[in-house]
Amino acid sequence: MDRSAYTLVLMFVLVGLTACSPATKRVQINEALIEVEAQKQSDIALQSLIHHHDRLLRISYPLLVTAQPYCEDDTRASIGVQFSNKYSIPDDLQDAAQRKYDLGDPIQLLLIAPDSAADVSGLQPGDVLVSINGIGSPVGEDALEDLHDLIAKEIKSETVTTLTIKREGVMQSFPLTPVRSCNYPVVLSGADEVNASADGDRIIITKGMMRFATGDQELSLVVAHELAHNAMGHIRAKTTNYLLGSVFDIAAAAYGVDTQGLFGNIAAGMYSQDFEAEADYVALYFMAQAELDIEGAANFWRRMAAEHPGSIRTNHAASHPATPERFLAIEQTVVEIEAKLSSGAGLVPEYKQGREK
Ligand SMILES: [Zn+2]
Repeated sequence: MDRSAYTLVLMFVLVGLTACSPATKRVQINEALIEVEAQKQSDIALQSLIHHHDRLLRISYPLLVTAQPYCEDDTRASIGVQFSNKYSIPDDLQDAAQRKYDLGDPIQLLLIAPDSAADVSGLQPGDVLVSINGIGSPVGEDALEDLHDLIAKEIKSETVTTLTIKREGVMQSFPLTPVRSCNYPVVLSGADEVNASADGDRIIITKGMMRFATGDQELSLVVAHELAHNAMGHIRAKTTNYLLGSVFDIAAAAYGVDTQGLFGNIAAGMYSQDFEAEADYVALYFMAQAELDIEGAANFWRRMAAEHPGSIRTNHAASHPATPERFLAIEQTVVEIEAKLSSGAGLVPEYKQGREK
């Protein structure tokens, strides 16, 4: 040990001898009780995770189904089930999932959306999947990936599908008719920030947003807004605009000028506020079509702007600062839709001349 290291160790020992310590005794806990408490913590964490997923499925299912005509080629046949086995649960919660749901290698119907094909047919959360149309369900670590392929092959919309399950040890078969739905999985992000986004393929909602949007109408508004971004092709349009703008960056580079993507970024931001306004507008139609209450919708976005002005990345704060115009436009849309509802007119958004989805 060289001299400086020796001095450091000596100082540490001296500090240790003289450092302040708490005055009262530390409560001694039995090791077995610590183990029980750790399990309790895992059970609470799992319960919270499942609660968020259940809420997301229940809220997003009717919107994804009713918005289907707007999703063009991004559709799939849906039965309204979230399948799971222990490998789809975070490692540290797998033991808790085993205790609470008996979740192991076989695939279970962990969550079922109300009024979905699965719900109507009589399937229940906790049923263990045995087969689809007589083809045995995959089991084990890669089972959910394999199930994805099996579902793509066997589950077609408007075509009767038979799910055979095991419930309390008894095998039962349930015929059901899947419906067409937008194919934008709604993904729960573990982030605590109050945020939501759409990437053209998925809708991403953070845990922070789940906590902020306490009412079902509030969460529906968020999901419908992001769904509208995907369904109306906003992400594709922004990418196209970016590529068009990049032509100038590439041309500048040919003359030795490094624009650092300036033109591409400017072009990607073009019409951002219009895209936001359209997402707000179309989202309210999606909600009304799904027979959800839209009264007072502007209040949620007002609260959002007031309490989290920097949230909903790339959407509201960055490209669309909270403006009175936005909230008034939402209120006006609610009036427009309610007038159509009371007159019995079709719930179709108003398009610009020559443009229709
Ligand atoms: Zn947006």
